[in-house]
Amino acid sequence: MNHAYSCRGHNSWNEKIAIMSQQGYVAAPPYSQSQPGIGGFGPPNSSIHYGHYGDPNSSYSPQPGVSKSAVPFGSPAPVGPPPAGAQQFSQTSFQNGSGTPGQQPHRFQGPSPPSNTGPSYPPFSHQSQAAFPNTAPASSTAQLADQLNSMQINSYGPGTAPSSGVSPGHPAAFQGPRLLPPSQQQMGLPPAPQLPPPPTNSINGLGAQPALPPMARQGGIPGPVPPNPNLQHLPGQPPGPGYHPQQANYGPQMAASQLSYPGAFPGPAQLSGPPQKKLDPDSIPSPIQVIENDKAARGGQVYATNTRGQVPPLVTTNCVIQDQGHASPRFIRCTTYCFPVTADMAKQARIPLAAVIQPFAAVPPNETPLYLVNHGETGPIRCNRCKAYMCPFMQFIEGGRRYQCGFCNCINDVPPFFFQHLDHMGRRIDHYERPELSLGSYEYVATLDYCRDKKPPKPPAFIFMIDVSYRNIKSGLVKLICDELKTLLDKLPREEHEESSAIRVGFVTYNKVLHFFNVKSSLAQPQMMVVTDVAEVFVPLLDGFLVDFEESRSVVTNLLDQIPELFADTNESETIFAPVIQAGMEALKAAECAGKLFIFHSSLPTAEAPGKLKNRDDRKLLNTDKEKTLFQPQGNYEALAKDCVTNGCCVNLFLFPNQYMDVASMGLVTMYTGGTLYKYNNFQLETDSPQFLSDLRKDIQKKMGFDATMRVRTSTGFRATDFFGAIYMNNTTDVEMAAVDCDKAVTVEFKHDDKLNEDAGALIQCAVLYTSMSGQRRIRIHNIGLNCSSQLADVYRTCETDALINFFAKSAFKAILSQPLKTVRDILMNQTAHMLACYKKNCASPAAVSQLILPDTMKVLPVYMNCLLKSCVLAGRPEIPTDERAFHRQLVMAMGVADTQLFFYPLLLPIHSLDLKSDVVPAAVRCSEERLSEGGAFLLANGLSMFLWLGASVSPELIQGLFNVPSFAHISTEATSLPNLDNPFSKKLKHILEQIQSQKPYTMKLMIVKQREQPEMLFRQFLVEDKSVYGGASYVDFLVCIHKEISQLLS
Ligand SMILES: [Zn+2]
Repeated sequence: MNHAYSCRGHNSWNEKIAIMSQQGYVAAPPYSQSQPGIGGFGPPNSSIHYGHYGDPNSSYSPQPGVSKSAVPFGSPAPVGPPPAGAQQFSQTSFQNGSGTPGQQPHRFQGPSPPSNTGPSYPPFSHQSQAAFPNTAPASSTAQLADQLNSMQINSYGPGTAPSSGVSPGHPAAFQGPRLLPPSQQQMGLPPAPQLPPPPTNSINGLGAQPALPPMARQGGIPGPVPPNPNLQHLPGQPPGPGYHPQQANYGPQMAASQLSYPGAFPGPAQLSGPPQKKLDPDSIPSPIQVIENDKAARGGQVYATNTRGQVPPLVTTNCVIQDQGHASPRFIRCTTYCFPVTADMAKQARIPLAAVIQPFAAVPPNETPLYLVNHGETGPIRCNRCKAYMCPFMQFIEGGRRYQCGFCNCINDVPPFFFQHLDHMGRRIDHYERPELSLGSYEYVATLDYCRDKKPPKPPAFIFMIDVSYRNIKSGLVKLICDELKTLLDKLPREEHEESSAIRVGFVTYNKVLHFFNVKSSLAQPQMMVVTDVAEVFVPLLDGFLVDFEESRSVVTNLLDQIPELFADTNESETIFAPVIQAGMEALKAAECAGKLFIFHSSLPTAEAPGKLKNRDDRKLLNTDKEKTLFQPQGNYEALAKDCVTNGCCVNLFLFPNQYMDVASMGLVTMYTGGTLYKYNNFQLETDSPQFLSDLRKDIQKKMGFDATMRVRTSTGFRATDFFGAIYMNNTTDVEMAAVDCDKAVTVEFKHDDKLNEDAGALIQCAVLYTSMSGQRRIRIHNIGLNCSSQLADVYRTCETDALINFFAKSAFKAILSQPLKTVRDILMNQTAHMLACYKKNCASPAAVSQLILPDTMKVLPVYMNCLLKSCVLAGRPEIPTDERAFHRQLVMAMGVADTQLFFYPLLLPIHSLDLKSDVVPAAVRCSEERLSEGGAFLLANGLSMFLWLGASVSPELIQGLFNVPSFAHISTEATSLPNLDNPFSKKLKHILEQIQSQKPYTMKLMIVKQREQPEMLFRQFLVEDKSVYGGASYVDFLVCIHKEISQLLS
């Protein structure tokens, strides 16, 4: 399939930019260096050097002074001095701002606007039928066309106005030593104009402005963006002449020369004049098309995992998965299902070789749950040498008396009790009767050898730890939690065959001190024990602290009734935090069980105690080498996390901040212990309770494993080298998790240590030793076999972009703890270009230099990569609260492939076109303003946030049907849910909302957004194909950029 897009009607734009998708094309003739004139653009031997995967010394190095600028990729659009009202999310601001009437708390605290002077949307024209009118002066595609035109004009165009097309703020963009050779011009994708970085002092200046709370302003919501002169005319800065390539050391897999991104952020460079030419956005690869094609081809079918190396349906495709020898893609997805045979090949392609493992992924009711195999006292059958567990990759020989390990090739004796004859095919005749012989995934009952101290584990416990400081009491949160627990404790998770849950419960409240409660069933009243020595926390009681809810129901209910009363008159506003975790952990330790803490906390812990935190939110650090410190924890939280993991103590944290809370520190223990972090900014009882309670209910009922250790074994020739996730690593091989639930995924990277064998393939076995909810020690085993090939085309053909993005996101989000964000962004960009350049060079048919060629499986890699690069974690903006970035970082680290896919490329559904007669959800549309329409209504969801966007001329029938009000003007945007109305349209939409929600770990609060009203700004950030209002490149601009990088790599 060839996509071609061209700039229509412009005569100097005569070369097509073809984006070709190729599948299965093998080994084109050697790439010829056909661009003699282009020498100035790359190292003379760059085609030899590029792609030395993992070798920092031989990677492609950009040349200084050419078209590279020092603009960091993902660097913000320049912002001038802020208008009055621009502010930061600072302690002062939120103290002032909390509780302001009319504010709209959001899970994602929206950035503040560059301007708060009244609405400045262009007047709405009823004539503009075509599309949603651009609020930016020109759409990104139009801009691109203009930029391209300008390029041509300025550099080569005969006799046209030299600089009229360029914003005066960017004198450097088209000047300097940049006489592009004609061949470069004909590429059709000339360098995009460069945007100089904002002078540091402009950022500092912004940060130094007196802060006003965003919520304190009229309307409470960031206003529209341009037109704001500050955004458009920034003092230019020539591309950094002193640019020095530097070595990046972002994990071995990503070692690369640093690459700086010219023009990736053309930013607000508005080219004057009306947009004349438009690139057709339909001609560039569409994620929606890819998703829909896969749904059409594979949706609703049975996918049997009977073939090594087969590529599963996309995560967005619903199908029934049947385990026939390899783990379901629900449990394991890989970046490629065919590994290159040699390390050299891997270095050449620079495709990360990784598996995203979600060991406890939920299995839908129409698929078979995992079998539990019990070999009694003998325990699991394992290879003597490599300790791999029995699985379909073991080859039985000598009439069934021995077997050869598929992982290390060791010949093992078959234990007598396990002996079985082989059939004429050499297969055991009980093959299909034993899960461990025929299935990709199953569980073993573990013996005492697998237990702590060789003692059977006790059932796990949940400890509820409630911050009862002044604010939580006052807001009604404490009462809300206590009331909910009374009914929720009846729904503790249990095994399918059990009548009641084995999980025990305990209760602690705290402010500056800790209160433990004795809720023993024999008591008439609960008893409180206060621990004031928070420096050396001890557990004041053992007996009666952790109880069976059934048995102690009356005492527990009594306690939950009393807690809000007990602290009703408190004026204590200071809290402790680390001692709370410590206390919970000590309690579990004393009870000799694993478990989970549920901590409900609302403020920065400033009381004098271990783990005391101070406000260190300094946004002057953005875009400096010290930005990484914002994500690093303060104090001793890392050691505390390690202790928790050692003791099987998982920490779930529910945060209710109304100011900076240092999520980077407070959330650390949660992340390392496999817990889940929830955050409700400016929590308001009336509007936010449903979301919080839904999260709490889901979380308490989640199926999970406790006190877990995961080990990934591989067949010879490669091994697991890096692990990314909500995990703790005590050594280089064992992934420790205090707990692991159905939503948590660990991303594992593999490296060669020898040549792989095409016949044997690349086999992976993931074993998770854990304690079940009933207190049984088990081993959950997932096996998957991948192919190996000496043909790069085979590797590319079996790539999975969704898994690649999961890997890139996690590896980058890990790397920002130790490296400047700019370096991390550059490496991502560099690696993307390398992967695609290698494909073009080695796998594509000889193509014109001008063509951007994307492998079929990576068609949407650029758009997804761009979404990652401009995510708030990687592209810091002063408007985005640091806590929000730390929160997103921690969330993504634990995500599986489906969650990262939706998070980086949100779902945008046109709901005005719902077919009421069918159950089918309408096809999504691309996340771009151009896909919206005045008369439409669109639902957007990314797993954390959900919006219902209503076009200004949406039909009154639709408004009536959804909101039961007569007109657009009557719709309240304060609502966080839709009313329950008795009409098919409303019911259908509610059903769709539930469907979207049901598959996601976090409850999304619905925000209603009206076209051209202020909160629209929040919504627009999620239109990820467009240029971000805060500086992220549009999809089209990014393609231009990546194409240019590829061309340079290949030149
Ligand atoms: Zn072995």
